[in-house]
Amino acid sequence: MNVQSGAIAYGMEHIRFDVLYVKRKTMEIAVHPDRQVVVKAPAGTTWEEIENRVKKRVRWICKQILHFRQFEPRTPPRHYVSGETHLYLGRQYRLKVVEGDKDSVKFMRGRLTVTIKGQATPDRVKVGLESWYRTKAWEKMPVIFGPVMERFKRLGHNCPELQIRRMKRRWGSLSKKGTLTLNLSLISVPKECIEYVITHELCHLMFHDHSAAFYKLLEQLMPDWEQRKRKLEMAVL
Ligand SMILES: [Zn+2]
Repeated sequence: MNVQSGAIAYGMEHIRFDVLYVKRKTMEIAVHPDRQVVVKAPAGTTWEEIENRVKKRVRWICKQILHFRQFEPRTPPRHYVSGETHLYLGRQYRLKVVEGDKDSVKFMRGRLTVTIKGQATPDRVKVGLESWYRTKAWEKMPVIFGPVMERFKRLGHNCPELQIRRMKRRWGSLSKKGTLTLNLSLISVPKECIEYVITHELCHLMFHDHSAAFYKLLEQLMPDWEQRKRKLEMAVL
């Protein structure tokens, strides 16, 4: 398909859009959850007509972009010093930074103790904590994934490969090749929210879009998905 890209300025914002020429009679603008702006235009529409339409709807486009932005993981600045709280599976734990014989992270009595050999600079504490979170994510997420996957197996689906990494804009994704990617940041939110993200992504094994059929399946598998979703959106990591 023939795709062209353009951009318009709106106040301080620079709005990029992709244009798809398709067999249809009217122009349509959509803003996707990853904030991509897509214009579907009938073949033969001039660039000027397209730009004019985008300009005319620019306020609506910005509103959509803002709407999706609020669902992105929110992370306030961290200083990696003693006393600061960090989240693990939806609960807050106080950080204690100490200098010792060797680097380690210990999780006990409601406290996250990071020991650094030598000078405990925030950078080194950050690296230590990040690797602890990664280890915990690989320990916990497959355990949460297992039972959810069982239900999809009964529906005849093969188990996708699991990947965990930091993502800026999404909680999870399912690739066409069948890799389920979960955001490492999910290790900070309650288990029920992780289950929701996994269930949502696995529903894409059956429906690749967010059609009514997709939501019907999600509703059937997880009747309280909306509550879990709201909880996830409220999470400040
Ligand atoms: Zn989805």
